[in-house]
Amino acid sequence: MTSGAYDPSNIFAKILRGEIPSHRVYEDENTVAFMDVMPQAPGHVLVVPKAPSRNLLDSDPAVLALTISVVQKIACAVKDAFDADGVFVCQFNEPAAGQTVFHLHFHVIPRHEGVALKPHSGKLEDNAVLAANAEKIKAEL
Ligand code: AMP
Repeated sequence: MTSGAYDPSNIFAKILRGEIPSHRVYEDENTVAFMDVMPQAPGHVLVVPKAPSRNLLDSDPAVLALTISVVQKIACAVKDAFDADGVFVCQFNEPAAGQTVFHLHFHVIPRHEGVALKPHSGKLEDNAVLAANAEKIKAEL
């Protein structure tokens, strides 16, 4: 194993099991996408495979392939929904690289020319704003 063990009590596992709420924008057999509660820009989405893995390092390549195709779908949707100039896709592996939640996830963040990203894991966004942004993205899917 190239990283630590998978802990099924992590917060994204709880979201996947429906034990805590999320603003979902997309779901299929293998993957869920929901709004990041501390967005680095409006429209910041997390794409999460249902299969348990801690991060990229211990993932099944077949799961990765399914997940990245959803990342592409969501990236196109957030670009359109927020009339963005570009889309930032990123993913952290282990604490030294900035990972704070230990279930594999990809960040998908719309970017506008000249607008800086807010800090990673910064301020909690209002639920109403997250809900409205989720609706905008769903309308493009
Ligand atoms: P990281 O593990 O560093 O890639 O970051 C985890 C991300 O999850 C951060 O951007 C947090 O804002 C986000 N986050 C933490 N808790 C939740 C939650 N309950 N629902 C949605 N996003 C979350």
